[in-house]
Amino acid sequence: MKRVFSGFRPTGKQHIGNYLGTIQNCISLQDEYDCIYCVVDIHALTTLENTEKIQEDIYEMVLDWLAAGIDPQKSILFVQSHVPQVTELHTLFSMVTPLSWLLRVPTFKEKVKMQPHNVNYGLVGYPVLMTADIALYKGNFVPVGEDQLPHLELAREIVRRFNALYGKVFPEPQAKLTSFPLVLGLDGVQKMSKSYNNYIEIAASSQEISERVMTAFTDPERKYRSDPGHPDICNIFRLHKFFTPARIEEIASECRRASIGCVDCKKILAQSISSNLEPFRERRAVLASKRNYVAEVLAEGTNRAEAIAKETMKEVKERMKLVP
Ligand code: SF4
Repeated sequence: MKRVFSGFRPTGKQHIGNYLGTIQNCISLQDEYDCIYCVVDIHALTTLENTEKIQEDIYEMVLDWLAAGIDPQKSILFVQSHVPQVTELHTLFSMVTPLSWLLRVPTFKEKVKMQPHNVNYGLVGYPVLMTADIALYKGNFVPVGEDQLPHLELAREIVRRFNALYGKVFPEPQAKLTSFPLVLGLDGVQKMSKSYNNYIEIAASSQEISERVMTAFTDPERKYRSDPGHPDICNIFRLHKFFTPARIEEIASECRRASIGCVDCKKILAQSISSNLEPFRERRAVLASKRNYVAEVLAEGTNRAEAIAKETMKEVKERMKLVP
C-alpha cells in the first residue's frame, strides 16, 4: 500500500471542526493506505513558549482520535520527538535547502508579524522539518487543503534537490487534495478554533454542548422572534446540516416562516450534536479507564515508526558518504 503521512500539532481535546474535517478524513484513509499519524510536538515549539500543558494536550488529543476511530492496528500513531532521527534528517536537509526558499514562504512572513518578539530559527526552518517528517517515513501522500499546497511544493523541491545531489532516496510526496468542510465557530465568522474560543469539544457533556450552542450567533438579520429567518446565512443552520441532516428541510422551512424561534432551533441542534457524539463519548470513557492505554499505543507506534526511520537514515548516510 502507498503510504500517507500526516502531522498534527498537539491541541488538546478536539472540537467538532477537527472532528468533521481532519479526524474523519484520517479514519477514511486507513483502509486504503498505510497511514502514519504524528503528533508534531517539535513543530509546536515554534509558537509555543510555555510547554507546561503539552503532555496533557498530547494525551487528550490522542485519546480523542482513538475514541473517534483511528485504529492503532491499522495506522502508526506516535509523537514526533519520540523518534529523534527526524531532527537529524532535518539538519541534513537544511544543508541542501537555500535560505531564499524559506524566507519567501508566506506563512513565515505571517508568523513574523504575529509574534515579532519570538522570531526563532525554528520558524524559518519549519518547512525543512516538515519535509524531514514526511521523507523520513518515505511518505507518498500528504492530505492537504488547497491553502497548504505551497508548503508541500517546497517539500517536494527539497526532496528533489536531495535526490539530485545524492541519488534517489526519497519519493516526491504528492498532495492528497482534501476538501475539508468549512466549519465556522460559534461566532459564525471565524473558522472553528481554540484560538478564537468559538468551539465545541467533541468530548463535551450534553450539558456543556447545550451551554455552548446557546451562546452561538444566528442569522444576524433576524432581530425578533416574529421575523422570518434566513437559514442560508445562519451558522446554527450550517451545523444542522452536519448533525441534523434528516430534518434539514423542515428546519429551513420553519425558520423562513418564523414558526420556530432560534432558542428552540438551538435546542434541537444541541440535542443532535449530543446524540451524534454519544457513541464517541462512551468509547472515550472506556479507553480513558484503561490504565496507560494511550501511552502504550504511542510506544508501539514509536517502535514501528523508529524501525522505518532507522532504515531511511542508514540509506541517507550511505548516500551522503557519512559512513566510513
Ligand atoms: S431558527 Fe434556526 S436556522 Fe433560523 S435563524 Fe434561528 S437559529 Fe438560524
